[in-house]
Amino acid sequence: MGEISMPKVVLLGRPNVGKSTLFNRLIRSNRAITHDRPGVTRDRLEGVVKRRGENDFLLVDTGGITLDGGPGDGPEDLRGYEAGILEQAKLAMREADLLCLVGNAREGLNPLDGRLADFLRTTGKPILLALNKVDGPDKEDLLSPDFYGLGLPLVCCSSAHGYNIRLLEEEIRARLPGAVSSHAERLEEDAGPDGEAPMRVALIGRPNAGKSSLLNALAGEERMLVSDKAGTTRDSVDVRVCLGGRELIFADTAGIRRRARISDAVERFSVSSAVRSSAGAHVSLLVLDGSEGLTQQDKRLIDLLDTRKAAFIILINKSDLIAPGQIQAAERLYRKDLDFCPHIPLLFVSAQSGLNLRRIVPAAVALREECLRRVGTGVLNRIMAQSLTRRQPPLVRGRRVKFFYLTQAESDPPAFVFFVNDPERVLPPYARYLEKFLREQIGLKHAPLRVHFRPAHADRRAAGRD
Ligand code: GDP
Repeated sequence: MGEISMPKVVLLGRPNVGKSTLFNRLIRSNRAITHDRPGVTRDRLEGVVKRRGENDFLLVDTGGITLDGGPGDGPEDLRGYEAGILEQAKLAMREADLLCLVGNAREGLNPLDGRLADFLRTTGKPILLALNKVDGPDKEDLLSPDFYGLGLPLVCCSSAHGYNIRLLEEEIRARLPGAVSSHAERLEEDAGPDGEAPMRVALIGRPNAGKSSLLNALAGEERMLVSDKAGTTRDSVDVRVCLGGRELIFADTAGIRRRARISDAVERFSVSSAVRSSAGAHVSLLVLDGSEGLTQQDKRLIDLLDTRKAAFIILINKSDLIAPGQIQAAERLYRKDLDFCPHIPLLFVSAQSGLNLRRIVPAAVALREECLRRVGTGVLNRIMAQSLTRRQPPLVRGRRVKFFYLTQAESDPPAFVFFVNDPERVLPPYARYLEKFLREQIGLKHAPLRVHFRPAHADRRAAGRD
């Protein structure tokens, strides 16, 4: 039960982002012991986050990282930051299982946030962005947009008001080693007597995109088995549907109405609740209104789902309103707008005319299968060797990073780990090249994918350096 065996989460951020309030909120100091170890870990507070039925984790608060020198680009500039605090942060980071970058939504995105994010990324460790000082759901869309640009999974929260602290804690736990998230548990609970769980599908998208119409068209009202909790149409609803001999669960379909009462629901849309629904599903169908085109909010949601490694398909609904000859041109426009996530499948459909409805379930099934793919280490190491021959790693600060081996650490979604002598020398463009090559070689066309760079075992690292 010692702290050593507990997963470690390190909070990092600029001063005044609200890090210590967040720290206190998370450890709920009445229930945990906070200790300051003067001398050894100056400016470093540690506490245990406990919750009944969940594994404990150790939370480490580092001092606020400030900028001493002039602004510039790249992680090297971090050398100009207050050296002592940075050293402490680096020490804490080395032992961390998860890095939690804290941002201040009220002040907006600061260039230092971006450089810190780049710096954290060089560790290859999972990172979560806690965007603090967002006091409620109505403030999320107002205060958060710039921060999505950091490309990190993001939770809006308020340490002062307590908003989304529970969610933040869940998101942290879900990223720790050995985590079984509550969603994952829920996904397992659906398993039938034969042990095979029906696929859970989330239908998400703005009101009036046609989610209800699509579900009705796909399932046919009479075949929908709705477990509808009494109350308003905003309650969580699971719909079980048998399609092509396969049982699917359209999960948590708040805001989705059966035909009879399509007109009576007032649906509010929030990006974060859409993201939350997708986290509770194996595959999400993001429904867009093809007569309206892609809005900024749609793009933000897509970006967020993509950075959160959700498995999703974009359905451009109401394609009956696009002239048949224009669909290809429309597809090119969407693709151009979505060039940040070229692997996400796009399907032009129409709930009204029935266009491509038959392709939706097979596409979701194929995506799910990709998410569960496992690739052997032998194959992976051949792919790694090929990728290094085709394009050798660039010199970074006078040296080239050495690659030792590649393994698949997880599936659902697939995660691959390159073991290297020095992860800090793998810069983002080369990391992107490796990811693309890997996708092509193992045929993961549409699934979300994680690629990590970890230092190899200490003696191998020493051998690689000297
Ligand atoms: P939801 O809020 O996303 O569930 O959207 P609804 O299913 O309630 O649909 C919103 C409106 O769009 C309704 O008036 C539908 O009749 C209309 N609609 C839905 N799908 C289509 C489609 O494929 N083509 C056309 N032309 N209209 C559609």
